[in-house]
Amino acid sequence: MTFTADCLLLFGATGDLAQRMLLPSLCALDADQLVAPDLRIVGTARQKLDDEGYRDFARAALEKFLPEERKPAIEPFLQRLHYQPLDATQTDHFAALAAKVGPVEGGLAIFLSTAPSLFEPTIAGLVGSGLAGETTRIGLEKPLGTDLATSRQINDAVAAAFPEDRIFRIDHYLGKETVQNLLALRFANLLFEPLWNAAHIDHVQITVAETVGLEGRVGFYDGAGALRDMVQNHMLQLLALVAMEPPASFDATAVRDEKVKVLRSLRRIECDQTVTGQYRAGAIGGSAVPGYDQELGQPSGTETFVALKAHIDNWRWKGVPFYLRTGKRLPERVTEIVVRFRDVPHSIFAARGARTSPNRLIIGIQPEENITLSLMAKVPGLDRGGIRLREVPLDIAMDDAFAGPKKRIAYERLLLDLVEGDQTLFVRRDEVEAQWDWIDAIRACWADNAIEPRPYTAGSWGPSAAIALAERDGVTWHE
Ligand code: NAP
Repeated sequence: MTFTADCLLLFGATGDLAQRMLLPSLCALDADQLVAPDLRIVGTARQKLDDEGYRDFARAALEKFLPEERKPAIEPFLQRLHYQPLDATQTDHFAALAAKVGPVEGGLAIFLSTAPSLFEPTIAGLVGSGLAGETTRIGLEKPLGTDLATSRQINDAVAAAFPEDRIFRIDHYLGKETVQNLLALRFANLLFEPLWNAAHIDHVQITVAETVGLEGRVGFYDGAGALRDMVQNHMLQLLALVAMEPPASFDATAVRDEKVKVLRSLRRIECDQTVTGQYRAGAIGGSAVPGYDQELGQPSGTETFVALKAHIDNWRWKGVPFYLRTGKRLPERVTEIVVRFRDVPHSIFAARGARTSPNRLIIGIQPEENITLSLMAKVPGLDRGGIRLREVPLDIAMDDAFAGPKKRIAYERLLLDLVEGDQTLFVRRDEVEAQWDWIDAIRACWADNAIEPRPYTAGSWGPSAAIALAERDGVTWHE
């Protein structure tokens, strides 16, 4: 059902995500008049605050996390904020919350920024207090489960109260401009699509590299690991967007129908197509950093790095490897997709001593948003000693190309879509479950073969076996 909510109810309103991302995003949307003047924002968490107390809390977060030029927008934004203390495990706390929210006929958008263990009691409380009716939609933060079984349990609990068209599963990568640009690149240009298949593409690489270690996520990360924290959601979504067939239109059903077909076509991975690692003490940017077990304070079998060679068993991608790698304490923070085309079938320059390199399309997602196409060009000169060719980049730096429009962070886009009810950039249940199904098989394979993460030095690109995984096929990771 399409409606624009006139109230946003934020669970986990005092949490890290709320402070760093959600409140700053809402404040930016407010400053640019992108939300209706009468949108009320009600925050809730256990901390005992009143409206003014929460406004003070939000002010401190916004002062810390908003860029300087946005700060004049803080005071007017704070007037939208209201707060009701609540323990989500206590059903009887929800009546007071419902009273604070007030009538919901004008549309209520709920954002659950709490641990998934609270989803079930929260939904029971919402139902019991009349906050889960037809004019309510609900947004859920990851992680949606730790495997297919727990993901189904969460999905079933949510589905008992909300139909799929009112459930908004967040994968914040989908809110990123460059990720959406991938669709524009593929489907708003004639140039690439005829070449976008096994006949012309040699392989695809997707890298999500972090320089940080555990940070404050000790409790969560050690139970999850890189495969579940990064590959199951963000990286498989990127893979699906790269590999999907053209949807008939840019709408929620058409786009998600095509993504889920890709996810279901992923071939089961054998253990020897995976490499896992865990960082040891090393150096990042010249500074010494401890190993994972030192940060954790105990030995652990959790992988902080994973590299995979995946295949999509369909007509378009037959035989094209998708190399995926992600890890913590790698030398640089970078998220990128590299599409390596095949070499020209015959080089007319070979007899004159020149070598060609296959074209590469590099889509940088963070920290810089840019798209680079490597092309072969002749090195200027009279060529007396033979022709020399060299790769030169055709670069689109998105910041330069679009200096005018304001850059929006992912949560601005996603919060707005949640309030307005556009599901295109949210993940459907069948996608999440196809993702878990594939990930569970990898974890089962690791368990059956007692695979332990290999050590790698912080500041390196992971265990050498990850390099070998690609080099066996004559492929070099893009660095
Ligand atoms: P967090 O800092 O631990 O915040 C949790 C929030 O939930 C707090 O506001 C906490 O406030 C509230 N809460 C805890 N127990 C509660 C209860 N029984 N009843 C009501 N409220 C309760 O977590 P976070 O980092 O903001 O993350 C929130 C969710 O987003 C998690 O599922 C996380 O995995 C996910 N996520 C976070 C990030 C990130 O960058 N932080 C990124 C992606 C996904 P009180 O203690 O006052 O109740």
